[in-house]
Amino acid sequence: MSKNHNCLEGIACPKCKQEDVFSIVTTCKALVHDDGIEGTNRHEWNSNASITCRECMYSGTVAEFSGVPAAPVIPEERMGVLSTAHVSYEESLLIPVLLASGALIGMEREEGWLVHTSKPHDDAPNLAYIQGYMQSKGFQWILFDRDASGVEVFSTFDW
Ligand SMILES: [Zn+2]
Repeated sequence: MSKNHNCLEGIACPKCKQEDVFSIVTTCKALVHDDGIEGTNRHEWNSNASITCRECMYSGTVAEFSGVPAAPVIPEERMGVLSTAHVSYEESLLIPVLLASGALIGMEREEGWLVHTSKPHDDAPNLAYIQGYMQSKGFQWILFDRDASGVEVFSTFDW
């Protein structure tokens, strides 16, 4: 049972059992000037935050240090949402064909398409450029939606 009842309520090192001082990776609001940080406040963290015991340097999550089983890590992939106007008319006809044949990974929707960024196709060079760009920005999926707004970095087509 932890002796802490304020900032460190329920927290203790699972290895050496000390309860007095820890390093916790927090978010905060910082007053920042060009030459440095003047001050911070509103420090916050959640149960998945990284925490290190200042005695034995054992590290884990706040949940682990609170005796709570760690939350399962669920794999995730990022999806960017782009307007269908970034696809040319010719490629808009080709994409459903490439999706149906498996040449592109994804699916057709009434409002556009969901396309994986990993499999560019030579017959759709404009789409391939968008796939490559989005992949370089860390996106695995692109949801082309007719109601999404345009992004300046891509060409826009009127059709
Ligand atoms: Zn410790």
